[in-house]
Amino acid sequence: MAKIQILGSAAAEGIPAAFCNCRVCTEAWKNGGKDIRMRTAYKLNDQVRIDFGPDSLAQEYKYQLHSERLKHLFITHSHEDHFYLDLLNYRMPGFSVVEEDNILNIYGNPGVIRAIQRFFWEKSYDRFNGDYKKFRLNPVTLEPFQPVVLEDQDMEFYPVKADHMIGVGTEIPMCYIFRIGSSWGMIANDSGYFREETWAFLEKRKFKLDLMINDCTGGLLDIERGHMSGKYVLDTKARLEKIGSVTAETQYYINHFSHNGQATHTELEAKFNPYGIQVAYDGLEIEF
Ligand SMILES: [Zn+2]
Ligand SMILES: [Zn+2]
Ligand SMILES: [Zn+2]
Repeated sequence: MAKIQILGSAAAEGIPAAFCNCRVCTEAWKNGGKDIRMRTAYKLNDQVRIDFGPDSLAQEYKYQLHSERLKHLFITHSHEDHFYLDLLNYRMPGFSVVEEDNILNIYGNPGVIRAIQRFFWEKSYDRFNGDYKKFRLNPVTLEPFQPVVLEDQDMEFYPVKADHMIGVGTEIPMCYIFRIGSSWGMIANDSGYFREETWAFLEKRKFKLDLMINDCTGGLLDIERGHMSGKYVLDTKARLEKIGSVTAETQYYINHFSHNGQATHTELEAKFNPYGIQVAYDGLEIEF
């Protein structure tokens, strides 16, 4: 049995969003609990996580994550709500004590790796010479659809193409299909309705997902490209069922919510639960 923890369930602004006085944010302040959402990230175990946003330190305190144990960090894309580079700077001697053999592997698309390089050049001036050893970091460039096997964890990851950051540079954000032991899951936030290449890959490889986590940034609104929500979540589930990737046994969740999606946690449940879709929230642990 595999396990995953939702460390954050919000889109970029968080809920309640900073400075915001909209109905959803006002409700969130009033309701607390599942309506309070930090930026999206996932813990697979002590040593493996997906995404590392600006709430990472707060999540670490709240869920006792112990980032000194982190060995493998998979990044979906370089938007700052998923990859907050300033925190990585604190792996430098003088800021933290990190043993020489404690290497953190960071996996990302070429845009993510470029962002890491640019950040350290700009931040570290003459101290950084393309030498990540000082930071005990090892950036690993991912190719879409090419698996990464973590022998030490009994895990494997397949990065697949999302439809996000459209018209912004050349970066192609990734969703991840992954295996933990004998369980299979997929995390697709900031995905948009999947690209046809991704559908073709899912169909060809005949993945049988025990867990699906689907982008629902726009909540009750019907958003298709860049992000996904509303009827496109339902379309995605139906198509995944049609190709056999999702069955009645699959635990199907939505995550990565914006306050602009017009819905509180209860309202999201009212809309999506009748379709066999659960609504994620901060701290939720799922066994699959
Ligand atoms: Zn996002
Ligand atoms: Zn708001
Ligand atoms: Zn994004």
